[in-house]
Amino acid sequence: MKQMLTIGWLYPELMSIYGDRGNVICLQKRCELRGIETKVLLVGLQTTEKELSSCDILLMGGAQDSQQTIVAKDLEKKKKTLSSLIESGVPGIYICGAFQFLGKYYKEADGTIVNGLGIFDLYTENPGNNFPRLIGNMAFDASGILGTAAPMIGFENHGGRTYLGLGVKPLGKVIKGFGNNGEDGTEGSVYKNSIGTYSHGPILPKNPPIADFLIQEALKKKYKQEFVLSKLDDTIAEKAKQTILDRILQ
Ligand code: GLN
Repeated sequence: MKQMLTIGWLYPELMSIYGDRGNVICLQKRCELRGIETKVLLVGLQTTEKELSSCDILLMGGAQDSQQTIVAKDLEKKKKTLSSLIESGVPGIYICGAFQFLGKYYKEADGTIVNGLGIFDLYTENPGNNFPRLIGNMAFDASGILGTAAPMIGFENHGGRTYLGLGVKPLGKVIKGFGNNGEDGTEGSVYKNSIGTYSHGPILPKNPPIADFLIQEALKKKYKQEFVLSKLDDTIAEKAKQTILDRILQ
């Protein structure tokens, strides 16, 4: 039976900076190479909850504070559906500003509080423009979903500092860079099959195992059976990753 996955790309016009659109292209390609059909649903202000409910994988990129304020208003309308998708185990990856939305609130640089979805037990605060933004190449492990401390790479640029609630699982540990807040050594967070991360990049083509985690979990949930994904030749991606790791871990 030919498998088909619907990839929900949330707010592509407003929440997609630093190449986050590359995550959609990566998922499509890695499915295509395995004979898995994909359909991309562009989720925007006009998307209905019924359409959103049809998604098998969810992706949402990052943005500046101003775009986040616009999206926050629409997310309130879609909160019930998005929360139930996440709670039911629909896999997804939420980057930077999108990650911040999954928590209780995001305090912007000017002190404005943007309510989050409250799905992840965390909060984010931007200490203001007198404090440096957390910017640069990042190396971290994704032990929270992959179970190994193999290094992953990405690029971060955020003013917000995210603090995880007690017992909340990080995506992994920071090897180089700032991660959630530049203080506690955590990067991102995992809740069921949803990943929050500060890693732009785009993260998925740079770190194929994370992309395959999303595909595997989506197939398992949709078809109610385990799938062993065929191995792809990731030589180029792994060589590129090692080049960056050699450069930033000098
Ligand atoms: N506006 C948020 C911050 O500065 C998120 C930035 C982003 O998505 N790169 O923390």
